[in-house]
Amino acid sequence: MRTKVVVIGGGYGGLRAIEFLAKHNDVDITLIDKNPYHYLQTEAYGYIAGRFDIHEIAIDLDKWCRGFKNRVDFLYEKATAVDYENQTVTTEKQQLSFDYLIVATGAQTNFFSFIEGLRENSYGVKNLMRAYNFRKEFENLIYKKLQNEEINSGEDINLAIGGAGLSGVEVAAEMAHVIEIYSKTLGERAKKIKIYLIDASDTILPGMSSYIISNTKKRLEKLGVNILTSAFIEKLDKTTIYFKNGEQLKYHFMIFTGGIKASSLNTKLECEKNRIDQLIADGELNIHNSKNIFAVGDCVEIKDMHGKLLPPTAQIAEKSAEYVANTIRKRIDGRASQPFHADVSGIFVALGGTYAVGEMFGFVKVKGYTAYLLKKAITYAYFLGLHLRINAGYKNRIKDTL
Ligand SMILES: Cc1cc2nc3c(=O)[nH]c(=O)nc-3n(C[C@H](O)[C@H](O)[C@H](O)COP(=O)(O)OP(=O)(O)OC[C@H]3O[C@@H](n4cnc5c(N)ncnc54)[C@H](O)[C@@H]3O)c2cc1C
Repeated sequence: MRTKVVVIGGGYGGLRAIEFLAKHNDVDITLIDKNPYHYLQTEAYGYIAGRFDIHEIAIDLDKWCRGFKNRVDFLYEKATAVDYENQTVTTEKQQLSFDYLIVATGAQTNFFSFIEGLRENSYGVKNLMRAYNFRKEFENLIYKKLQNEEINSGEDINLAIGGAGLSGVEVAAEMAHVIEIYSKTLGERAKKIKIYLIDASDTILPGMSSYIISNTKKRLEKLGVNILTSAFIEKLDKTTIYFKNGEQLKYHFMIFTGGIKASSLNTKLECEKNRIDQLIADGELNIHNSKNIFAVGDCVEIKDMHGKLLPPTAQIAEKSAEYVANTIRKRIDGRASQPFHADVSGIFVALGGTYAVGEMFGFVKVKGYTAYLLKKAITYAYFLGLHLRINAGYKNRIKDTL
């Protein structure tokens, strides 16, 4: 008998689950995504600063699915509801039945409503369109500087990044690095562009180790990034950021990486959720007490074995997806399954150009070019896997059309 698995969301978690499930010939898989591409958010910092191109951060999902030789169908549609009883997913166009469902819909930028003007006046990076718009603004600014067009009548041009977590820090470092490179060719004109990294916490990278925090801080300072911690943004208008302590900062544009909330599908799912709408699952990542419905990645709250909440990362999305794919296999075979034990194997922070800081397995600590090479190797392995599938999908498509 064949088993039908539906995966909602072609992000890090969704794709990893499919890679594992597609190894089994008795499983038919359908991937649903509201976008036609897989967005490599972990590389967004380089795209925004103009170091990577769009083909390096977006992968066509249809071709990727074709790489599995008719084993995986792709639907470019938005999922709008799940019927637990009847085991169906509704999209904007149709209804699909499933034996097993994996919800892997990720998260979106949380433009906090308590910060007046935040949504209207800032960009996010969790969405390719917003990242693209920000990149255009950044390139436009550099171009104007090259043309010697005066902006803000010769004053400093401040680019603000709200949120000094992993993504905010990486974006700040890469932009500062690009400005440093441009200052060699554009001279003093580029130096007028200043980067501000702002966070309400009393530290950058809250929750990370002192090794990562102190070395990241040193690198950011060397790149000339202005770090504002314990800085509560109260409101923003088109030109000014207003802080709770009464201070103000004139800015040119702002990117907000200060928080996430689960994707909007979660709001429609009947299931317990936390304050950022992440689904609350049981120890085997099942939701709504349904043994055949799972959630992985950023859309679900994941804790380690000590009950500590883990930050939403691609690494945890992939680990939870591998676990769920293996658990589905066990359920199909009628074998017993074990609870998910989430752990973080390591963390690498890209800090502009060929510099990074990282830690692996809690005791390997690296910084500088070595850390950069290790981070690059991890990214390259991921990228290569995607491309091997894409190449196979491309060939299969040509065969189909002959
Ligand atoms: C700048 C930046 C840097 C980062 N750096 C790192 C890093 O160095 N290391 C790391 O581990 N993590 C990093 N992260 C975090 C990482 O990108 C996320 O944790 C990861 O993307 C989560 O994977 P996911 O599969 O849960 O969701 P996503 O990758 O967000 O994928 C979700 C998918 O679901 C689709 N979807 C959503 N709703 C629907 C719907 N209703 N119907 C159909 N499809 C839907 C979306 O289109 C998307 O394709 C970074 C994030 C950013 C923004």
